[in-house]
Amino acid sequence: MQIEIDAHSGFCFGVDYAIQLAEENLRQGDELYCLGSIVHNDEERKRLEKWGLKTINQQQFIELKNKKVLLRAHGEAPETYRIAAQNGLELVDATCPIVLRLQAKVQEASVAALQKDGQIVIFGKKNHAEVIGLKGHAAKNAIVISSDNDLKQIDYTRPISIFSQTTQGLQAYISIVEKIKKNVLAANGKIKFVSVTDSVCRQVSNREEELHKFALKHDVVLFVAGKESSNGKQLFTVCKRANSRTFFMSDISELPLENIASASSIGICGATSTPKWQMTDVLNFLIKKTIDIF
Ligand code: SF4
Repeated sequence: MQIEIDAHSGFCFGVDYAIQLAEENLRQGDELYCLGSIVHNDEERKRLEKWGLKTINQQQFIELKNKKVLLRAHGEAPETYRIAAQNGLELVDATCPIVLRLQAKVQEASVAALQKDGQIVIFGKKNHAEVIGLKGHAAKNAIVISSDNDLKQIDYTRPISIFSQTTQGLQAYISIVEKIKKNVLAANGKIKFVSVTDSVCRQVSNREEELHKFALKHDVVLFVAGKESSNGKQLFTVCKRANSRTFFMSDISELPLENIASASSIGICGATSTPKWQMTDVLNFLIKKTIDIF
């Protein structure tokens, strides 16, 4: 029986930085709030909450006064900074630099689009914090596209600037861009006034190939991630496509013991929001259980 943790799985640098900032502040004994879950991983959030981190929602943030609040890697809309200034909140801004650059590009494109009756199209999940933040950085001319069904919202006769949520799959983004271009061609007879920004984060998309190879190497793959993790769903699909005996799990209680009993090799991997310690916990649990199971 061979058990291996994927060396490429675990926090991306954006999430790692946010966790480090939270730990530094908590270590100093500071009272620290976090707007939304610091990472889409319940186990990691609970670990930091045990240290004292207080997770708050948007409404609680609006009502909070004179406290220290961490902004997570996903980034925020300008409105969040305005509320913080108004309420005397001290911000610990852990917005990922990649997201910051994307916000600036969306803002710039949005201002330019206003001059020429253009539209900003963001490919991503409507309720995802990063997408809400990006939409906030655009003027009122942003449309969020989550699937082909949303394509009808675009006016193909007007200029279009297209961006993607950083954790979307590269192939899915390429595919939606092709569909938009096809519709522009059908509406105008030629491709005109379409600008595409490649904003898929390579911290996620570069892992796809590695995970594909990793999933092929093992009899069974255990993919560890939070249920809310966008890139977790994305990367799980990559593993499942490569190896049908891939199982999604968020904690030890979900370990599919009956499905792994006959495996000669098990691979453990995860998302950019999966802490290394969680994958190591699964490994240690399996080592302890080995005698019983195998
Ligand atoms: S996935 Fe990429 S953009 Fe998102 S937090 Fe991680 S490094 Fe930053």
